[in-house]
Amino acid sequence: MQYISTRGGMQPQPFSETLLEGLAPDGGLAVPEQLPQVDAETLERWRALTYPQLATEVLALFATDIPREDLAGMTAAAYADFPDEVVPLRSVGGGITLVGLSEGPTLAFKDMAMQFLGQVLEYVLERKDRVLNIVGATSGDTGSAAEHALRGKERVSVFMLSPQGRMSAFQRAQMYSLDDANVHNIAVAGVFDDCQNLVKQLSGDIEFKRAQHLGAVNSINLGRIAAQVVYYFWAWLRVTDGVEPEYREGFEVSFTVPSGNFGNILSGFFAKGMGVPIRRLVLAANENNVLDEFFRTGVYRPRSAADTHATSSPSMDISKASNLERFIFDLVGRDATGVVDAWKALDTDGFFDFSAQQPRFEGEFGIVSGTSTHADRLATIRSVHEESGEIIDPHTADGVKVAREFIEQDVPMLVLETAKPQKFAETITEAIGVELPLSPELREMMDAPQHVTEMADDEQVLRAFVAEHALH
Ligand SMILES: *Cc1c(COP(=O)(O)O)cnc(C)c1O
Repeated sequence: MQYISTRGGMQPQPFSETLLEGLAPDGGLAVPEQLPQVDAETLERWRALTYPQLATEVLALFATDIPREDLAGMTAAAYADFPDEVVPLRSVGGGITLVGLSEGPTLAFKDMAMQFLGQVLEYVLERKDRVLNIVGATSGDTGSAAEHALRGKERVSVFMLSPQGRMSAFQRAQMYSLDDANVHNIAVAGVFDDCQNLVKQLSGDIEFKRAQHLGAVNSINLGRIAAQVVYYFWAWLRVTDGVEPEYREGFEVSFTVPSGNFGNILSGFFAKGMGVPIRRLVLAANENNVLDEFFRTGVYRPRSAADTHATSSPSMDISKASNLERFIFDLVGRDATGVVDAWKALDTDGFFDFSAQQPRFEGEFGIVSGTSTHADRLATIRSVHEESGEIIDPHTADGVKVAREFIEQDVPMLVLETAKPQKFAETITEAIGVELPLSPELREMMDAPQHVTEMADDEQVLRAFVAEHALH
């Protein structure tokens, strides 16, 4: 299996080559030359597998340049600290089942992919005898998932910029309590956009980037997309465990995905293309609904930072959706010229317009969408709690709210649980008046000494810091 760029300007590359770079050299994103196919018989064979075993099978289709036994070692290690089932499913009534993706160390779904990425990065770097210094900006979940996945690794270090005083106490503790020598927390005097600009300045300087072996693990990373495909297979298999064997083949389910950068739902789109019987992929947005607008109208208009709202489902607060380009590539018939033209229009006009194609979004690709607001989130957390006794986090609540608009008779609706409520305790209290107790481990994390370097919003200061602490 080889990977090409959505903009047509990259020699086909194997999986491991796509992991270390962010964008393709032509500014596009790496996509499989063609999606691997899984037939009904193979799906049935996979029914007996544990989650790490299933992950090995699915990832082996993407990572054909890595021996299967090595992949098996990596998936076993990646999910070793999760509960036995790794991804538990539970019904919350009203035809809705939650797919639990937040059982990892940072209580959010990004652990699912990042834990695997940590394993495979170390493996690839060892074989190439290289090191990698990850520089990233975070407003919460991504940074902590990356740090927890990469802590203690020998060939990778992490420099994670976060906006000083803008993260919750929980988020700060989750990152700053790590005291591994290869983890560098940097609190910038500024907002998230300032952090992101600093990262862009550093990685945009090709010479500095080479000399300091800089890399990224952001949401366009193909290793993350591939690892996320696995749980769509898993969820389908677990739902159809409860279906009479003769009706399992082609038994359709729908998924609702709380979305920001279009990474998670893109993995579902890949799973559908590979043969998982998925009827609909429902995209749930919060007030920053640039993607809902696109899927309803065909017009994609990224927002400015000033038009991007800070909401109570903060991990979905995006101004543009980095992974959308991979969907556009399929929409235009896998034709790089079509992608380049769309992005040219975006540059000149501030939007691109596929309204003539909009009926295909649902008809051909099965993607529909909706928006949820703060009031919706609170009402949904409340109603799910009343009906099932379950407490769901605000992002998952956005999912349940939009999922309810697309429930169909006889089609199970699976909502991806993208975070645990403990992570967003203030909103839970606002919704149902309950103070969520912290487990002893979380209590300990909150009380642990914190390790963070405070820094001015100054590129030169950051350069000097990275050059001094980077692995070489
Ligand atoms: C990152 C994140 C999302 C959005 O996922 P995308 O892949 O960016 O669409 C949703 N919920 C939570 C809790 C997240 O951390």
